[in-house]
Amino acid sequence: MAQAKRKPKTRRSEQARRKAIGAMLAGCPVHELRAKLRDAGLRPTRQRVALGWLLFAKGDRHLTAERLYEEAQSSRVPIALATIYNSLHQFTEAGLLREFSIDGAKTYFDTNVSHHHHFLIEKSNTLIDIPQVQVDAANLPLPPAGTKIASVDVVVRLQELD
Ligand SMILES: [Zn+2]
Repeated sequence: MAQAKRKPKTRRSEQARRKAIGAMLAGCPVHELRAKLRDAGLRPTRQRVALGWLLFAKGDRHLTAERLYEEAQSSRVPIALATIYNSLHQFTEAGLLREFSIDGAKTYFDTNVSHHHHFLIEKSNTLIDIPQVQVDAANLPLPPAGTKIASVDVVVRLQELD
């Protein structure tokens, strides 16, 4: 019996197929997460989907790699800390996270990639988003010759009242 000749899959038909599946699964969070990873150019491996789930399913947040590692462990997602570091940097390079370090020491990964500023509660190292519009960065110093200001990141440090 002659085998039916399979047409080689073109990129276009693959995209059309994904689009059709996407329409069917719209609203399924895991499906949307896979699509988000794929759109960012990352293959949605099981580990990336699991980490993406921990990162993006709870609204805007600021996480250290260690914190995410703890969350993964308590959610019974067995991922090594080194893998978490790598994935966080891949997510950042793909534009899904914004890397943010405080005092050059503690590195946070922000799930809100829009440009915004932060309140920092110093005692607990808690970051809170400030919408861009609420910070007036009009009176900035002139940048040194041969440079220009690329962006301004404001951290307003807070102390809790006793
Ligand atoms: Zn933020």
